[in-house]
Amino acid sequence: MKNFFQSLRLVKASKLERLPPREMKNEEMNCRKGDPEGLANGISHFSFLISHYLKKHGFEAFCPKAVLFDMDGVLYDSMPNHAIAWQQSMAKFGIRMTQADAYATEGARGVDTIRKMVKVQQGRDIDEAEAQMMYDEKTRQFHALPKPPVMPGILELMAQIQADGLTIGVVTGSGQRPLIKRLMNDFCGFLDENHIVTAYDVKHGKPNPDPYLMGLQKVGNLNPWEAIVVENAPLGVRAGVAARILTIAVNTGPLPDEVLLQAGADLIFDRMTDLSHDWRNIYTPSSSSSSSSS
Ligand code: CA
Repeated sequence: MKNFFQSLRLVKASKLERLPPREMKNEEMNCRKGDPEGLANGISHFSFLISHYLKKHGFEAFCPKAVLFDMDGVLYDSMPNHAIAWQQSMAKFGIRMTQADAYATEGARGVDTIRKMVKVQQGRDIDEAEAQMMYDEKTRQFHALPKPPVMPGILELMAQIQADGLTIGVVTGSGQRPLIKRLMNDFCGFLDENHIVTAYDVKHGKPNPDPYLMGLQKVGNLNPWEAIVVENAPLGVRAGVAARILTIAVNTGPLPDEVLLQAGADLIFDRMTDLSHDWRNIYTPSSSSSSSSS
C-alpha cells in the first residue's frame, strides 16, 4: 500500500488518469470525508489524495472555505526578477547568492535569509535593522526591473473560487512596502486588504506555520481543514503543511518536483492553468447551506 501510494503521489495531479467520479450526496458535497478505500470505490484521485491528507492529520472532513495564495511564483511570475535582484543586491554587500539560492530560499522572510547568509559567509550576527537595510536594496533593485506579469491562469482560478463562495487570502514572506496597493490593484474584486499576510505581520516566517496560521485567522478564524494553501516553493509548502492545511504546489520554477513533494505537498501541478482547469475536481460546491463538518 505504501509503495503504491508513494508512486501515486509522484504522478502529477494534472497527468493523472481520471476515474469516474462517484455520485455524492448533498451533505457530503461541501465536506469531503476520508475514504481510504476510495480508489476501489471509483472515487477520483483527488478524493483519494484528500483522504490521505485527512488521515495524515487526524481530521474528519475537508470543508474548504478559503484559499490562501502565496504571492511570488504563484500570483506573479516574479521569481526570475527576484533571483536577479537577490544576486545583484547581495553582491554589493559582499554576499554571494546565486539565482539557484534565490529559488531554494524563496518564501522565507527576506531579512531572515539575509541574516543567515551573513552568518554563514561572514561569520557575523546582524540585527533585524541591518538586514532590513540590505533587504531594502534588494527591493530597490527588484523594482528597477520590468514589472513581472500576473501568473497566467490565476485570475480564471480566482473567479471560480469566488463564484464558489470561498474567501481568497494572500500569505507572503515578502516585505515590499507598496505590496498591498499593488495586490489590491491587480486582483481588484477578488481580494480584501484585511485578508493579506505579509512579512510584517509575523515574527517567524515560512517554513514556520505562523504565516499560514495568521492567514487562517485573517480570513475568518478558520480551522486548518477549512482552507487550501497554494504554494510554489519548498519553504512555503513546509509552512502550509506545518499549519496542517491541504497544500497544493504549483511548480512554476526550475526546482525538481521531488523537492516540493519531499516538503510535503499534498498535490502538485505544472502550471496555474492546470490547477484552474482541475479546480472543480478538488472543490465541489454544496447545493445546500448545511454542513456536516465536525
Ligand atoms: Ca513563492
